[in-house]
Amino acid sequence: MQASITLKAGKERPLLRRHPWVYSNAIERVDGKIYPGATVQVLAHDGKFVAKGLYSPTSQIRVRVLTWDEAKTIDHAFFKERISKALAHRAQWIKNTNAIRLIFGESDGLPGLVVDQYADTLVCQFLFVGMEHWKEAIVQALVQQTACKTVVERSDAAVRAREGLEPQIGALHGQMPGAPINVNECGVLYSVDVVHGHKTGFYIDQRDSRHLLSELSKDKEVLNMFCYTGGFSLAALKGGAKHVTSVDSSGEALAMAQRQMLLNGFDESRATWIDSDAFAVLTQLRKEEKQFDIVVLDPPKFAPSSHHLDKALRAYKEINRAGMQLLKPGGLLFTFSCSGAVDSALFERTIAMASAEAMAHSGNTSMDFRLMQRLSSGADHPLLTSFPEGDYLKGLLLQRL
Ligand code: SAH
Repeated sequence: MQASITLKAGKERPLLRRHPWVYSNAIERVDGKIYPGATVQVLAHDGKFVAKGLYSPTSQIRVRVLTWDEAKTIDHAFFKERISKALAHRAQWIKNTNAIRLIFGESDGLPGLVVDQYADTLVCQFLFVGMEHWKEAIVQALVQQTACKTVVERSDAAVRAREGLEPQIGALHGQMPGAPINVNECGVLYSVDVVHGHKTGFYIDQRDSRHLLSELSKDKEVLNMFCYTGGFSLAALKGGAKHVTSVDSSGEALAMAQRQMLLNGFDESRATWIDSDAFAVLTQLRKEEKQFDIVVLDPPKFAPSSHHLDKALRAYKEINRAGMQLLKPGGLLFTFSCSGAVDSALFERTIAMASAEAMAHSGNTSMDFRLMQRLSSGADHPLLTSFPEGDYLKGLLLQRL
């Protein structure tokens, strides 16, 4: 008999609305043979079938749902089909790049699995014991369906510890790449270090915003704060920016950014790279009365969880106020938060407070801002209406009047 978990009374409701997680405190009873990654039936209190998913004995999220269809079997063919659907979606929606998120976890019906493609290399993150259990089947299906020569595992995200899993980095198929992989996104070449870089090596999720920045950059003075390997900086240079000043506290990331300048054949005099603390640089630029046409603020996750919320909101407000004060009239601010604990409404309120403070400090000059566009990750990070947790990246494009 297949293992099953029976929920406490009423706890099936979120699942019936297609939210794919069963928290440990919703479970009344576990029956049958259970092990990490086991397929389990999820039953309502009255024993009615609700869903099928994979079991994680140590995580707060005890079961992640794979299907609401009782007739579906969880086997190799199941994973093959889900992967093939995910690939078809990207083929329809993603153009002009060979850096693509092929699988985005829950949004593709594959909870806890991330797969990114960089040219003909795939980089996977198995973030949940259930996906770990099906690793071989997943890799086999990916290789078959993409014809990629190399599959790298970058399962070193902190969330794995909550699943009782050790970090894993290595080749799952082919050889570990000995050098960064070059990709071409909308005519810009980026070098991606899939072994040491952040996440799987690159912020694929900012593609649409990079493209928008590029289109708005002609002859502009651009400031890119928290630039990492210069994703936004290169996009601005490609778009014809007069000069781009980029700031990050990682010397390694800046060195990679400078190598990419050469790769693209951009004139080095069009860019300045500052290895320093962003908060200190913002204060210094203001003291020097520097002004920019465009400011980009894409900081690290200031709120890794809701415990850090107050401090994080203060930090978002501070950098945004400072960024606004560095804008010429008519200038543009691209501002982002990738903190899951800060939802879009809260982010927008924080930005409104930042602009109120900028106004209060501005003396007689007006500091009004217009919200031009809400920004988000691209179509390769699809969002499910039933899974708001997937919406981690929030961005706004503001214009100073
Ligand atoms: N905007 C980047 C991604 C940013 S990741 C892109 O589009 O690729 C966050 C970056 O912030 C990292 O590169 C990290 O080194 C940098 N960082 C973190 N704290 C910082 C600080 N106090 N000052 C400057 N840079 C910082």
